[in-house]
Amino acid sequence: MRITCVGGGPAGLYFAILARKAGHEVTVLERNPAGVTYGWGVVFWDDLLDDLFRHDPASARRIWDAAYKWDEYAVRATGKAVNHLAGYGFSLGRHRLLDILSARAVELGVDLRYRSEVADVPASDLVVACDGAGSRIREQNAAHFGAETAYGRNRYIWLGTPKVFRTFTFGFEKTEAGWIWFHAYPFTDEASTFIVECTPQTWAGLGFGELTGRDGCDRLAGIFAAHLDGEPLIDQRAESGGTGWMSFRRVTNRRWDLGTTVLMGDAAHTTHFAIGSGTKLAMQDAMALASALSPSDDLGASLERYEHTRKAALAPLQQAALASSEWFERMDQYGDLPAKQFSYALSNRRGEYPLWRYLLHVSTQSGPSRAMLRQALTLRRWSRARRRSGGAGAGGFGGGGFGGGEQHRRDPAHVGG
Ligand SMILES: Cc1cc2nc3c(=O)[nH]c(=O)nc-3n(C[C@H](O)[C@H](O)[C@H](O)COP(=O)(O)OP(=O)(O)OC[C@H]3O[C@@H](n4cnc5c(N)ncnc54)[C@H](O)[C@@H]3O)c2cc1C
Repeated sequence: MRITCVGGGPAGLYFAILARKAGHEVTVLERNPAGVTYGWGVVFWDDLLDDLFRHDPASARRIWDAAYKWDEYAVRATGKAVNHLAGYGFSLGRHRLLDILSARAVELGVDLRYRSEVADVPASDLVVACDGAGSRIREQNAAHFGAETAYGRNRYIWLGTPKVFRTFTFGFEKTEAGWIWFHAYPFTDEASTFIVECTPQTWAGLGFGELTGRDGCDRLAGIFAAHLDGEPLIDQRAESGGTGWMSFRRVTNRRWDLGTTVLMGDAAHTTHFAIGSGTKLAMQDAMALASALSPSDDLGASLERYEHTRKAALAPLQQAALASSEWFERMDQYGDLPAKQFSYALSNRRGEYPLWRYLLHVSTQSGPSRAMLRQALTLRRWSRARRRSGGAGAGGFGGGGFGGGEQHRRDPAHVGG
């Protein structure tokens, strides 16, 4: 089959790899030049690594090798002791991820064309619209797809910093205009992602509406000075005179296909960054679509199977993302709680935990019990990595760190920025 992917993000590139491996002729049209993208590092957990190793071990191994491995979550808030949430995860710069995927796609014979902005649906046996949250293809047929976009109440900005955080850190500062907080995590030995969020009232009260991108970063660096060790915050949009402050765009579509065109990744559905899963879900869409394409079925049946499978898999995560983002919208209700209750409320932001989780949280904040929990998780991460690589010691368990993995699926305590 001749397949054209519109968009060379994680969804488009990963689908291209899998479709090419299945013998299809695949072209990817990406509007940006090679090596140019938005955003900083993204986080993921064992469940994605398991899937990647199952579908394409060659790219999975490169992703594993490049991934930054971190353990525990730190919760820091003005006037409170530092608390910790158990768990571990991985992060990777978006640039690096796209480099790995595009190199693998080209190696397999995918025709990858940069600087190719698509205005209309191209002619092909199958067109995969993976052109991101603002998908032009979706918008051209919004009524058919039943596309809806809702905006989150809070304001956020996706920044980077040369400050390398030790681990995934939530930091909350109380200002004269209200609470403002960040979700930060290292993604290389030289940089961290730093996402700042606050209510619209705090945003206006701190004057961000009037500040340029650069001045806004300086203002934020001042507010979060206690966490940054003198390092700056960087807004990619500031270079072109803009600023990256936004409200989260929640995209849904009643149906995902139109003839031989199908939506995938953020073009089909977005997932709030409060659970850090959009890239994972986009790549899992790619896996599902590639698996659904079968020479014995007609295309319509394959696309229906793909949509059905993915909508069922997405529903609980979308629910979790919504609950999690709403918790942050109500954050000021929790701000005055003592440290342990506050960090527990943050970890239980979906409100699903049984009482024993609270007792475990309180009893593992320090000393030997915290160390024991970390060790247990280390073991779990090690055994998971070993299983992935067929017992040969590595799916490469090269990077050091602590375990936890599977819990990401069901445990909001381990779901970060
Ligand atoms: C602040 C923030 C933090 C996040 N953190 C995480 C995280 O930690 N973990 C995680 O898993 N996810 C995270 N995400 C979500 C993640 O970034 C997205 O879900 C993911 O990038 C979706 O992949 P995609 O391929 O569908 O779309 P995109 O990555 O947006 O790729 C779409 C591609 O299509 C191209 N394109 C667009 N229009 C056209 C056109 N007309 N012609 C040709 N090309 C076109 C674009 O240039 C782009 O390269 C975060 C998102 C935000 C906003």
